Amino acid sequence: MKCVIYARKSTEEKTRQVQSIESQIIEMKKIAARDNLKVVKIFREEKSAKKPGRKVFGEMIEFIEDGKADAILCWKLDRLARNPADEGMIKWMLQQGIIKQIKTNDRDYKPDDNVLLSSVEFGMANQYILDLSKNVKRGNRTKLEKGGWPSRAPLGYLNQDSGIVVDEGRVKYLRKAFELYATGGYGMKEIADILFQDGFHSRSGKKYNKGKIHKLLHNPFYYGIMLMHGKDYSGNHEPIISKELFDKVQFVLQGKHHSKKKKHFFSMRGFLQCEVCGCLLTATLKKGHRYYYCTNGKGNCTEHKKYFRSETLDKKLADNFQDLKFNPALVEIAYKAAKVRTNQTKNYLIIARDNLASRLQTLKTKQERLLNGYCEGNVASEVYRAKSGEMQKEENDLTVQLKSTNLKIQRGISTLEQTKKVFLEANNAAKEFLAAKEERKRKLLEILLWNATFQNQELAKVSYKTPYQYLADEPNKDDFCKMWTMEDSNLRPLQCECSALTS
Ligand SMILES: [Zn+2]
Repeated sequence: MKCVIYARKSTEEKTRQVQSIESQIIEMKKIAARDNLKVVKIFREEKSAKKPGRKVFGEMIEFIEDGKADAILCWKLDRLARNPADEGMIKWMLQQGIIKQIKTNDRDYKPDDNVLLSSVEFGMANQYILDLSKNVKRGNRTKLEKGGWPSRAPLGYLNQDSGIVVDEGRVKYLRKAFELYATGGYGMKEIADILFQDGFHSRSGKKYNKGKIHKLLHNPFYYGIMLMHGKDYSGNHEPIISKELFDKVQFVLQGKHHSKKKKHFFSMRGFLQCEVCGCLLTATLKKGHRYYYCTNGKGNCTEHKKYFRSETLDKKLADNFQDLKFNPALVEIAYKAAKVRTNQTKNYLIIARDNLASRLQTLKTKQERLLNGYCEGNVASEVYRAKSGEMQKEENDLTVQLKSTNLKIQRGISTLEQTKKVFLEANNAAKEFLAAKEERKRKLLEILLWNATFQNQELAKVSYKTPYQYLADEPNKDDFCKMWTMEDSNLRPLQCECSALTS
C-alpha cells in the first residue's frame, strides 16, 4: 500500500502532547515503519480545518485520486476533516475504495468498516468547532454579566490579570477632557490641543486627534457602564468620572450638534430644481431668512436671481402634500382586510412548500438509487449520464421554487406592515410638514420626495418617490380599499418598491 502522511497543526489541542507538525510526522513515520507501509509523500497543512478550501488538503485528495497513493496516515481522524464538506469527501473516497485505509495513532479505518463509527467521529470534530465558537461568545457574556470587560481596556484603563485597572499616568487627562467639555466653552480640537500640551499622547508620542476625543467623551465606561453589542452592563472597574459629569457632557454634545447644524441648515437643499434650465436651486441666508434661487449654471436662465423665500416654498409644498392624504381610519380597515387575506395566502404557501420539500426528498432517493445502480454496474454509463442530468435539472428547479416560496412566507405580513407605513407616513407628512423644524422637514422630504421644480415663483412639478407617487396619482382617496384588496394590480409594485425603500 502506498501511503501519504497528512499533518496539520492544531491550535485547539487540549492535551498539547502532539502539537507541532514535525512531531506528528515523526510519530507517523514510526507507525509506517512498524506496519510496513511505504510513505510516498508527506503533506503539511498550516491552515485550520474549520472551513473547506485548505490548499494542501486539496492537493492530497488530488494525489490520491490520481492513484499515486491509496492510504492516509494521520495523527487523529479530526486532523483530516473538521467540516462536513471535507468529511463527506473522505468518507466517500473510503467507501468507494479509492482510499483503502486511513491509519491513525490508535486505529485503522477501512472501506468495509462500520461507516457509522467514522461518521460519529467526524461529526464530533465538527461539533467541536461549533462548541468552541459558542463557548467564546458565552464566555464573553458571562464575563460582562459578572462585571468584567472581555476586550481591550479603553484609553485611561489597563488590562491586567486581576481585571481592568485605572491607568494612573493618564487618568487626569481623561478627567480634564470631560471637565473642559462640560463647560461648553471648548471644541474637540481645542481640547485635543490643550491635553497634548499637558502631556497627553499615545505610547509613540502622537497627539490624540479630535475624533478620538469625541469618541471617548461618548463612552459611558468612564463612569462605570460597559456597552457591548447594544447592551449595558455594570462594570466592576473603578469609575473615573461621575455620572453627573458624563450626563452634562452628553447634554453639551447634543447642544453643539444642534446649534452648529442650525446655522447653515437648509432643509430643501438638493431637492429643488429650476424648471427652465434644470439647475439645482441653491440656498442663502439673508437677515435671518432662508432663500433659494437658480444658480444659472448654464448662463442663460430667465429665472436667475429670482429669490424664493423658504416660507413660501414650504407653503407650496405643504399644499401639494395634501395629494398624499388618505383617511387613516380607512387605512386601518383596509389593512385589517388585507391581513386576513395574507394569512390565508400564507396557509396555502405552507402547503405548497411542504409539497415541494417532499418532492425534493423523493428525487434525492431516486438519485441515490441511480448512483448505486451505476456503481454496481447495473446501469450503463450513458443512461446514467442522461438520467442524472435530468434529475439535476429537476433538483435545481425544485430548490429555486422552495427558496422563493419560503421567502414569500416570511415576507407576507411584514410587507403589509411596510405598505401600511407608507400610507401613514404620507398622511403624517402632509399634516406635520408646515409646523416641523428644519431638520425634521428635511427628514420628511427625504422620505417622500425625489424633487420639485419651480418656474415663475410657482411650483411647476413635484415627483415623489415611487410608493408615494402611487398615492398622489390616486384620484379617489376615499375608495382606495380597492387598491389593497385587488390581488395583482396596483398593490404589487407598490409593495415591492416600498419594502426596498424601507429595508
Ligand atoms: Zn434656471
